Amino acid sequence: MATEPLDPSAQLWQAWASGRLCLQACRACGEIQHPPGQVCSHCHATDWDLVDINPVVTLVSWSTVHRAPAPHFADALPYTIVLVSVGPRALLEARLDSRVPVESLVSGMPVRLAIDDVVGRAMPTVVAP
Ligand SMILES: [Zn+2]
Repeated sequence: MATEPLDPSAQLWQAWASGRLCLQACRACGEIQHPPGQVCSHCHATDWDLVDINPVVTLVSWSTVHRAPAPHFADALPYTIVLVSVGPRALLEARLDSRVPVESLVSGMPVRLAIDDVVGRAMPTVVAP
């Protein structure tokens, strides 16, 4: 009986929902890949796992949202989305905790990630500069 291939995206969301700060990594070459996929973008292997990541990552950029992309985001306005570098080939979008002032952000600075609830869903969030 054939089994369905694992959906790496669903596996990642499930791990985040349990509070685990992790991303997909290739078992063949060790490269961290995000967004997750069935094939490693570095070596084309198809054997992957979820690995815990260092919560201290590098801030690349950010943008503050003033118009809700969907109705359930309206109560959260305004909020800031950040782009962080987790490795040479992995960029991750995360939410900026509202207690971290946007004015304190500097591109290239280290920031700390945690899994936090964002509009009812567990997502990576920058919780401290
Ligand atoms: Zn690989």
